[in-house]
Amino acid sequence: MKWSDFAAWGRKVADWTQDYHLTVGQRPVRAQTEPGEILNALPAAPPEDPQPLEDVFRDFENIVMPGMTHWQHPRFFAYFNANASPASVLAEFLTSAVAAQCMLWQTSPAATEMETRMMDWLRQSLDLPTRFSGVIQDSASSATLAAVLTMREKALGWTGNTAGLAGQKPLRVYASVEVHTSVDRAIWIAGIGQDNLVRVPTQGPMRGMDPAALDAAITADRAAGLLPAGVILAVGGTGTGGTDPIADCIAVAHRHGLYVHVDAAWAGSAMICPEFRDMWAGIEDADSVVFNPHKWLGVQFDCAAHFLANPDDLVRTLAIQPEFLKTHGKDGIVNYSEWSVPLGRRFRALKIWFVLRAYGLEGLRNRIRNHVTWSLDLHDRLKATPGFEIVTEPVLSLFTFRYAPEGGDADALTLALVTAINDDGRIYLTQTRVGGQMAIRFQAGQFETTEDDVKLAYDVIRDMAAALPCPA
Ligand SMILES: *Cc1c(COP(=O)(O)O)cnc(C)c1O
Repeated sequence: MKWSDFAAWGRKVADWTQDYHLTVGQRPVRAQTEPGEILNALPAAPPEDPQPLEDVFRDFENIVMPGMTHWQHPRFFAYFNANASPASVLAEFLTSAVAAQCMLWQTSPAATEMETRMMDWLRQSLDLPTRFSGVIQDSASSATLAAVLTMREKALGWTGNTAGLAGQKPLRVYASVEVHTSVDRAIWIAGIGQDNLVRVPTQGPMRGMDPAALDAAITADRAAGLLPAGVILAVGGTGTGGTDPIADCIAVAHRHGLYVHVDAAWAGSAMICPEFRDMWAGIEDADSVVFNPHKWLGVQFDCAAHFLANPDDLVRTLAIQPEFLKTHGKDGIVNYSEWSVPLGRRFRALKIWFVLRAYGLEGLRNRIRNHVTWSLDLHDRLKATPGFEIVTEPVLSLFTFRYAPEGGDADALTLALVTAINDDGRIYLTQTRVGGQMAIRFQAGQFETTEDDVKLAYDVIRDMAAALPCPA
């Protein structure tokens, strides 16, 4: 494969891509292969001699594609979506073509300066105050890790990186049960330890962290000689959309001098719509906020937007600056590798630029508003259907339900229903546990989803339930 063959292959791949996206709705959403099927179809040893790209491409279609779950399918209602709008795919093609490693300003000034501008465009889109600066991380998990390291270093007077944690007072970080498992992992990696992630009680199901309980926990820990470091709050948690009361919890945390990080990985995209911003009222006082444009803004995976009220704290935590990485002679420039755990960085800002220009904020808002409206319709219809129960009420476009016909084992039937639905393949849903009960999550967020797709979801759910063996 030579560069002189590239354009012909590029055209072929572009045609394939367009056709794939226009017809993906005809495929089963979730891969229907058995474990090991793809592995066994791949030769056990690498080739010694070059093989024609025709053969590679044919095997891609015949071996790889049957083992793919179609995240761009209009009836992908599982997890949260990872939208790849066509404008974003084009931008990623160009990023990949130029293939720059954009760790420092001088390793591609356009990538750095585009990132600065795009993070400010996103800041304005969410109506965050001008004091926030931003950086693009590879994932919300990375942003949360960076935030936990910053809390740790601030609490330790910037000595943790040099002296380590031995001999220090145990650090304490506070979160409700609504936060994502990426918080637990950040706590482990930062050396704080799971036992020092304090689960602050909530004000009741779906009502988020109790600010008075947060206050009491911090006060008790101080009195016990522990070192409170920070608070992590959720806006639109992964399981059911659970959200902590942002303004009240930030007020308590800041009264105690603690750093506050807000994880709005999914719901943050919806904050481009003013009518949803009540959900995170008070966000302007956070120390850092992360959301994933790769979930619901059409900017494909990976792209996590991390906003910081005071980036100096983050840079003080993460910058190393060996001599060979210094950018001599250019004052006032930003080296974003000092703002993140990995050194190397892809040119991720380009796809944000393409997407915001190709669709405009109004185009993106319309999609999100449609998803929320259609999801509410489905919620209303399921609620009115005998045998179905709503487990958690809609948060934006996410709600959970279960199949609990009279006299049946609701947990077993709900699990059987989600399995039957995913084997059927017309739609894709995932399950979660809510208060020990099995529930099915529904969320709408795919860019090509239509109202008819959501209506079809209702038919599939009802019909597959009716076809289950009768409750004993
Ligand atoms: C998806 C999600 C994450 C993890 O995001 P990554 O970018 O995959 O690390 C974290 N928090 C919440 C609330 C999420 O929905």
